[in-house]
This record gives sequence, structure tokens and C-alpha cells, in this order.
Amino acid sequence: MSRAQPLYLRARWIVPVGQRTIEDGWLRIERGRIAAIGRRKLSGGSPRDRTIDLGDAIILPGLVNAHTHLEFSDLEKPLDAEGGLPGWIARVVALRRARPSGPEEAARLAGSLRAGLAESLEAGVTTIGDIATAIPREGYPSVGPRLRIYREALGLSFLGGSLPGFMARDLDRLGDSAGISPHAPMTVSRALGGALLREAAKRDLPVTMHLAESLAELAYVTGGGGPFRDLFATLGAWPADRPPPVLPPSDWISRLARVRRGSVVHGTFLGEPPDATALDRLARHRDRLGVVVCPRTTRLLSGQLPPVERFLAAGIRVALGTDSRASNPDLSVLGEARELVGSGVVSPGEALRMMTSDAAWNVAHEVRAGSIAVGRPADLVVLAPSGPFTDPLDAILRPDTRVAATLRAGRVLHGHVTSG
Ligand SMILES: [Zn+2]
Repeated sequence: MSRAQPLYLRARWIVPVGQRTIEDGWLRIERGRIAAIGRRKLSGGSPRDRTIDLGDAIILPGLVNAHTHLEFSDLEKPLDAEGGLPGWIARVVALRRARPSGPEEAARLAGSLRAGLAESLEAGVTTIGDIATAIPREGYPSVGPRLRIYREALGLSFLGGSLPGFMARDLDRLGDSAGISPHAPMTVSRALGGALLREAAKRDLPVTMHLAESLAELAYVTGGGGPFRDLFATLGAWPADRPPPVLPPSDWISRLARVRRGSVVHGTFLGEPPDATALDRLARHRDRLGVVVCPRTTRLLSGQLPPVERFLAAGIRVALGTDSRASNPDLSVLGEARELVGSGVVSPGEALRMMTSDAAWNVAHEVRAGSIAVGRPADLVVLAPSGPFTDPLDAILRPDTRVAATLRAGRVLHGHVTSG
């Protein structure tokens, strides 16, 4: 189909997010953008325009996966979770150290990124917040979901000075998709975090950071003890007999808030003693900082779901992410939403915002993604529930509801749009 030729998509339901849900609705797509939205009778076009009636389908804004690590998308199943976060991190380090280097690893990384992007499109995802420890020489594939690529850095031995040159080169190459991620409080020295956040402020780039993911993290950053002390001493990352040059999550929140847009990833134990002020501090900065939760990963590594109700009660924008295939079986944000709604933590309407508009805000793509509105790119997902339904919000989350098609800027990148 030519993208220059206007197209009408009709469906039983259109759920724009941020505007009222439309029954028997249509969208007019022109040059990759939404040109008009209406109900029942088509208007504004010419008789030559193409019309596709999707029948009993639901059209949503393309879904947003606000946090993943595509570099692990080639894993068949998650790593063992024995020992919680410290045990799992030890396995990630072992996995990375066992990888070959040079061209072989470059080819593996490129293949993993392609696999992760393709799987995301199959899951209805058109925007991704990816954490990258390396940027492939040839860049990310040009056709696929919209990207926010947070260049990640970590290190306890960085005690001052300017940022390593490769960081600046990677950020230059990433252009408009760039973001920055200090990894986590127990792995990033004060000095390295300061340098990363100064760079983010200078370039006006969004930031993201894993914070308060485990009680072991809080123990390490507030007293230097616990399982991370032993792990880092074994790995040679920091000696067991010296206090690490680190900060607790509450201090990181104040530093992240110096940048115009950022997100805290997980936040499962935010506000727990001895760092009791962290959640209140995040709430004070909710105009620029949100939270991304990854429910199935948190359940695997912490044995509980993230405290989403507390974030929502504090007025914080909450997004869903899948985390990587090293801790999750797939890259489906619908799967994450089902986990939360099925456990009674949020309503279907709240879950919908968490994987569309509020997720787009968290990755600083809210002017392009996260809702269907006139003038925006036609990033869409077409869902096909398998049986009769009356409430589209419930039908979106049914496990037998299929992703029939995923469109980015009006182009079908997965499935088909056909009259049904
Ligand atoms: Zn993560």
C-alpha cells in the first residue's frame, strides 16, 4: 500500500487513550499520520480513498515498552533467580564474561537486537526504552519500533574526571534517540553518576536508573555490607574492606531531577528504611521523574509485585516495562499488564495508560507516541479478541486476544490489516 494514498481504518472500537473510547469508529491515515478520527459515517475524504473495515477489532495506540535490555533478546529462557538480585547479577556477569569478543560478539548483538525488535512488533509494541551497554557499529535497524536508547554505564572505580570518550561518541551516533543510564546505586560511583548526569543536562537527554530494586542494594549503599559486598569483592569490582563511593536512592532521585525528564526503574523498596525519604522525594519531582515497573521480573527476583498503588497514590506517572529476556519469558507489555490486573493491583484502564501515554512520557516520546490523536504519527496496534465482548478494556487484556497488526507511522510492520 502506498503511504501517500489516504487510508480509512474502521473498527468496532477505537481506544485513543486520553480521549473517549469510540464505538464503530474510523481513522483517516495520511502520509503516516492520523489525519482525522470519527464515528460511524466517514467524512472528509474522496471516493478514491481506500477503506479497510477491521470488523470486531480494537485499535489502540502502539504499545510502549518503557524498559528492556534488547542485548539479551537471544536468550531462550530467563536466567536462574536463585539468590534474588545479587545471585541473578552474578549470573549476568558470568554470561557476559563467557561471550566471545570482536566480530563474533558484534554479530551476536546485532542478531539479538533484530530478534528483540521483531518480537516487540509481534507483541504490539511500537516504542521501546532500551538499555544499551554497547551500540552496534552499524547502529540499530532503521525499520522497527521507535527507540529511546539509554547508553548505560557503571563502575565504582571512577572517582573523578571527564567521561570516557566512547560515551560521547555513542551519544553522538544515537542522535534523537539518545538517553543516558547510570546502571544502579550499588554499581555507579558518585563521581561517575555526577559526570553522566552533567552530560545528560548539557545535551538535554532523558535519563533512567534502576533504583531500590532490592533490600541487598539498600544495605550496600547505606553501610557497605550484605551480599553485594561479597559479590563485588569476588568480581574484583570493589574491595570488601573499603566503603564503596556510592549514594542511596534518595540522593540519586535529587540528582536525576536536575535533568528535564527521567525515570526510576523498579523502585520496589523506595522509601524503606534506612532510606525512608526516597518515595516522598520522588513524588516531589513527579513533574520530571516517573517510575517504570516490570511486574514479572520483580515477582521472579523479589518474590512480590511492585508497589504500584503507592506510586499512583503519590501522583507519579507509572509505566510498564518487560525488562529483558534474562529475567522475563517474553517482551510483551500486555503480559505485564495482565499480571498486574489479574492480581487486582490496577484496573484495566490504569494498565492501559501504563503501557501507552504514561509509558511514552517516561521515555520522553510523549509528543509522538502513546495516544491516537490528529496530527500524530499513526503508531497503532490492532487487537483481535477471539470471542464476543462488550467492554473493550477487558477484551484488550484477555489472554486469547491476538495482536492482528502493528503499524509504525502508518506502515504495517507486523501482521496484516484486512477487512474482517
Ligand atoms: Zn533493567
